[in-house]
Amino acid sequence: MFYKRMKQNKKSIYNMVNKRIKCFAIYTLGSLWALTVTAQSILPPAIEWHGKSESLIAKANDPWITPAERSDFITTPGYKETMNWFKKLADASPLLTMITIGKSVEGRDIFMIIASTEKNITAASLKKSGKPLFLAQAGIHSGEIDGKDAGMMLLRDIAFGNKRSLLDKVNFLFIPILSVDAHERSSAYNRPNQRGPQNQGWRTNAQNLNLNRDYAKLDTKEIRSVIKVINDYDPVLYMDIHVTDGADYQYDITFGGLGQQGYSHDIRDWLENTYKPFADKDLTSNGHIPGPLLNAFNGNDFSQGNIVTTGGPRFSDSYGDLRHLAAILVENHSLKPYKQRVLGTYVLLESTLKLLATAGKSLKQITEKDKAVRAVKFPIAWKVPQMKNTVSFDVLSNQQLPGAGSAVPDSIHFLAIASIMHKSTVTNSDYVEWLGKPATTMIADYRSTDPFDFITRPKGYWVPASWDEVITRLKLHGIKMHVIKEPREVTVEMYRIIDHTFGDDNNKTEPFEGHMQVTGTTKTEMHKQLFPAGSVYISTDQPLGDLAMVLLEPISKDSYFSWGFFHSIFQRTEYIEAYIMEPMAKKMLEESPALKKEFEEKKAADKTFANDQYAILTWFYSKTKFYDERYLLYPVGREL
Ligand SMILES: [Zn+2]
Repeated sequence: MFYKRMKQNKKSIYNMVNKRIKCFAIYTLGSLWALTVTAQSILPPAIEWHGKSESLIAKANDPWITPAERSDFITTPGYKETMNWFKKLADASPLLTMITIGKSVEGRDIFMIIASTEKNITAASLKKSGKPLFLAQAGIHSGEIDGKDAGMMLLRDIAFGNKRSLLDKVNFLFIPILSVDAHERSSAYNRPNQRGPQNQGWRTNAQNLNLNRDYAKLDTKEIRSVIKVINDYDPVLYMDIHVTDGADYQYDITFGGLGQQGYSHDIRDWLENTYKPFADKDLTSNGHIPGPLLNAFNGNDFSQGNIVTTGGPRFSDSYGDLRHLAAILVENHSLKPYKQRVLGTYVLLESTLKLLATAGKSLKQITEKDKAVRAVKFPIAWKVPQMKNTVSFDVLSNQQLPGAGSAVPDSIHFLAIASIMHKSTVTNSDYVEWLGKPATTMIADYRSTDPFDFITRPKGYWVPASWDEVITRLKLHGIKMHVIKEPREVTVEMYRIIDHTFGDDNNKTEPFEGHMQVTGTTKTEMHKQLFPAGSVYISTDQPLGDLAMVLLEPISKDSYFSWGFFHSIFQRTEYIEAYIMEPMAKKMLEESPALKKEFEEKKAADKTFANDQYAILTWFYSKTKFYDERYLLYPVGREL
C-alpha cells in the first residue's frame, strides 16, 4: 500500500512541475509583448457616447472635485488618496461619518461611509430612525471600480451639492473599496477586456481568493466584514457593483436580482416589477442603456441566446436571496468608456435612494414575509438549461440561420452589437470579432428556474462541539444557535457518505479557492447520538433557517461539507493486524454460510479484490464490531 501511494505522489508532483514550467513560459512571453502593445489598443471599437448624466460632473474649480473627474475619468485614485479624500469630506459634512468595518490581511482598513441626517450615528440609532437602509459596495473585484468613483461624486453632492434631500427618508451605507489590498496591486495590464480606468486593481485578494466566491464559506476578512455590517445594520437593500468580462452589446449598465430561481419570491417580484422599471427609467432619461444580466450561452456571441443560472450562495446575489435580503448585482459593461460607466453607476445609486424613499417601507414588509416562509420541501439545486439547438440568429440580418427550427425557448428583445466569426490562423479555431455597430434582434433566453433536487426541512441540526470551525462560521453568518452546557443524547438522522470524489464537477485534480472540494452521495441512518457539552442546536425555524440548511446539507454545493471542512471523516485511523484478521476472517466464514457466499461472489466478480490481501481483510474488518462506525459518517445530525 505504502509503495503504491509513493508512486502516485511522484507522478502528481511531476505533473505539477510540468504545468508550472508551461505557465511560466507563457507569462514571460506575455510580459515582453505587453511592453510594446497595450490591450486598450486592440479592444473592439467604442461607440461615442454623450448623455444628460454628464451634467453631474463637477466644474474644474469645484473644491470637492473628485480625482476621477479631475482626470476626465482617465484615472482612478489609489487607496490612500481615496481614503484621504473621503476623510476630508466626512470631516467637513454634518451628514457623513466614516468608519472602519474591518482590516484586510495586509492591515488596510476597509472603510465605510454612513450617510444620514445625523452625524456619528450608530447601527442601533440607524435602526431606530425607521428609515430604510441601503448598503452599496464597490470594488469586491477591485479592478471593477466604477462604483467607488460614482459613490465619491454622489456623496459629495449629498454633502455639498443639491442632493441632500436624498437622505430625508433613507439612510445610506457605502463601502468604496472592499478588496483593499487587491486595489493596490494596480497595473495597466490587469483587465485586458476593460476600457479604463488607466490602472486597475487585481481580481482576487492578497490571498489570491475571489471575494465573490466567499459568501458561504467565509474564509476572508473582507467578506466577514461585510457580513458583520449586514448583521449589525440590517439593510433593506444590498448592491454589489461589478464590471463584466464577456461579450459586446449596447447596454452600459446591466443589473438585476437572482430571478425566478431562489428562495425569496416576494423580494424577487419586487426587484423585477418595482425596482427594475424605476431604475431603468432614470438610467434611460439620463442617456444610459440599462439591460438585464447577460451571458452568451455559447460563450462567444448571442447568436444562440442568453443564459442565466444561479451560482449559489458563494456569490453576493444568491447569498442575499438565501438570507432574504434584496440583493442587486450590477455588471457595468467593460467595453464602455469609464466615464459612461461611472456616470451610469451614479444614476443607479441615486435612483435606488429615490425609490427607497417611497417604496423602502413596503420592501421591508415584503422582506419580512419572505423571512417567515418555512418551505418543507426545500430545493437545493436547479436544472441548468440545455441548449435546444432549435434557433440561431444572425445578428447582422436579424434572420434565423438556415437549418434552425422554429421552437424558441423564451425570446427577449436584444440590443446587440454586430459581430462576425473568424477562423483563427493561430489556433485554427473560431473566434468572434465585434464590429462596433448597433443592431436590434431577438435572442433565446434560457433560465435555470426548475429545481430538481430537494431536501426535507428538519426541525433543526446538531453540530458536535468538535467541529468548532464550522460552528464559528455559522455564527459569523448571524445564524442563531443554542449551545448545550451538558452532554445530551439525541435521536437524529445522519448521513453516511457512500461514494465520494474530491474536486468539483469541473475540476477533479486541483483545489478551488484554496479548498479541495468534495462531492458524494449519501444514505440516511437513524442514530442515538451523544452530543458533548459545547455542541450546538440550530433550529430551522428562524429567518436564517434556509441559509443554515444550505450550509449544512452535504449535497449542497456550498455546504461546509462540499467546501472540505469535514475532510477528516474520509480517513480511517484505527488498524487491525493481519495476524489477527486472517484467523478472524477464517472463523467468520466458518460461522456464516451467507457471508461465505457473499465473499465468493465478490471474489468472482472483482479479480483485483480477489488478489489483494489488504482489500480482502479490510472487507472482513468492515463487517466486525471492531470497525470504526464513524468512518464516512457526516457528523452533523438532523432532528426531525
Ligand atoms: Zn466582478
